[in-house]
Amino acid sequence: MEEKPSPRKPLIAYYIGSLILILLLNALVYPLLVRSRITEVDYSTFLRLVEEGRVRTVQLDSSGQEIMFSAVDSAGTEQVFVTGAMPDPELVHRLLASRSPVSFSKVTPQPHSPLLSLLVSWIVPILIFVGLGQLFSKQLQGRMRNTLAFGKSNARIYVKAQTGKTFADVAGQDEAKEALSEIVGFLHDPQRYTEIGAKLPKGALLVGPPGTGKTLLAQAVAGEANVPFFSISGSEFVEMFVGLGAAKVRDLFKQASEKAPCIVFIDEIDTIGKKRGDGGFAGNDEREQTLNQLLTEMDGFDSRKGVVLLAATNRPDALDPALLRPGRFDRRIPVELPDLSGRIAILEVHLAKVKTTGPIDLAAIARATAGASGADLANIVNEAALRAVRMGRDAVLQTDLEESVEVVIAGYQRKNATLSPKERQIVAYHEIGHAIVAAKQGHTAPVHKITIVPRTSGALGYTMQIEEADRHLISKEEAFARLATITGGRAAEELVFNTITTGAANDIEQATQIARAMVTRYGMSDRFGMMALESQTNPYLGGTTALTCSSETAALVDQEVMRLINKAHETAIAILKDNMHKLHELANQLLEKETISGDEFLRLLNA
Ligand code: ADP
Ligand code: MG
Ligand code: ZN
Repeated sequence: MEEKPSPRKPLIAYYIGSLILILLLNALVYPLLVRSRITEVDYSTFLRLVEEGRVRTVQLDSSGQEIMFSAVDSAGTEQVFVTGAMPDPELVHRLLASRSPVSFSKVTPQPHSPLLSLLVSWIVPILIFVGLGQLFSKQLQGRMRNTLAFGKSNARIYVKAQTGKTFADVAGQDEAKEALSEIVGFLHDPQRYTEIGAKLPKGALLVGPPGTGKTLLAQAVAGEANVPFFSISGSEFVEMFVGLGAAKVRDLFKQASEKAPCIVFIDEIDTIGKKRGDGGFAGNDEREQTLNQLLTEMDGFDSRKGVVLLAATNRPDALDPALLRPGRFDRRIPVELPDLSGRIAILEVHLAKVKTTGPIDLAAIARATAGASGADLANIVNEAALRAVRMGRDAVLQTDLEESVEVVIAGYQRKNATLSPKERQIVAYHEIGHAIVAAKQGHTAPVHKITIVPRTSGALGYTMQIEEADRHLISKEEAFARLATITGGRAAEELVFNTITTGAANDIEQATQIARAMVTRYGMSDRFGMMALESQTNPYLGGTTALTCSSETAALVDQEVMRLINKAHETAIAILKDNMHKLHELANQLLEKETISGDEFLRLLNA
């Protein structure tokens, strides 16, 4: 979009309009103004003035009802008067007999000062209108800038100091940092690369689950690179009118090429980069145009000039393949969930910003948070600091961190939740059921903590198991052992109370999920072997799955899932039956203490 239309045109129309208005006003208001300068007198005064010879001109109005006349006062200034006309046949004689000559003509009232009248009737209104016009034109321009400025992208430009983030703020993610520092290096010293004939990738796409630090990494690049950094979110291209988004893209790249070398960062690019042609919703047209424009711009710019495009998404599967082909985002930088050492590093970064006292065992916290993203960990540290303040302390303790891990996993403790004694008993047996089944099998993570303190999330208690180290592979035996552990809660309820409760709803969901994945994705059932029955469509966002088999097979899959869960349940029942004595003993202990640590649990179990 070139220029906004000149605001002068509407302004001229405005001035012409005001001129006409002033003319009209003058035609209407001026006589009134003048009229107010006419003094009304009675007939006798008129006669007296005539006799004294002061009347100069006289005018009878057409109806004969009114006489307008001018007369000089004692000081000699002429004034206009009006008086009601009396049926007076002598009038003409009287006038002719007047001492000074009277002319019978139109009386033209004169205002006091011609200068003042000019001022009042012309100059002041014109000044007012011009002033208003200026004011409006300013507002008009402002409004136009807003509504008609579709050419302007609202990319924020950052330079070094402004984001205040550097690679030091990003913990872990070493591979991603390495890949990005290459780009930073190029922007600092392009010569070194061009001399060998190396071309820098045009674009790098950061992909990974939410909260892993993609946006943070891009900000760190801005901080490191010392070049202008354009940052814009994909959603900012989404516009109401077809063509506006595309115009914004065009403008962004125009600005960028003017500022080269620079970095352009498009966050959440999936909002504009979705596959074209799927789903025929209204507004698709706009999105497609925007995407097409982006593709065109990416082809158009030359990375040798030093414009590097960065983008981030947690839905790479949804992106249009055209975006991903070489020559566009030809480099993919995975930003994965942090592993154990990564989590320790992230906790360190965030804990450096809060005051701590006493021994802090980061490794323990990191072990307890397998699967947590960087954002989760930042949240845990913050929760710990908040808790410390709530407790009236001025520094964070290890226990704050431990509690906040549970808060983030299971919600806040519900201080005034009232469980009946019977309910507490059921919950205690349920949790100990999980724990014993876990402990009595091989292939399971050690029990870390058992508690029946209710949580705001709705959990009435839980058994926390923590792996010693990060797991990348899970064997069939381990998966089955997990299934058995999950069914252990319900199994304990059945054995002890001879009835079942709703307390196992969450367990049932989890167990089904695991069993289904074992059958459909991991090839862990004898019946189907390595046949893929489901495909994961959205690996970074919870992993929604889609069946890839016929409905007959789907029915068989359901049977197989049920068989697996039932087998696990039987295993759990068997284990608990063998340890009935311990189940009672531990459940009573838990009822009494509310929380048992993993070590205590093991000691009692093996006693
Ligand atoms: P994403 O864009 O991947 O969804 P963000 O970059 O917005 O995630 O991360 C959110 C927050 O999580 C960051 O502001 C930071 O506090 C924290 N965080 C995430 N990853 C890391 C990391 N690797 N190191 C330090 N902090 C991190
Ligand atoms: Mg982000
Ligand atoms: Zn349970």
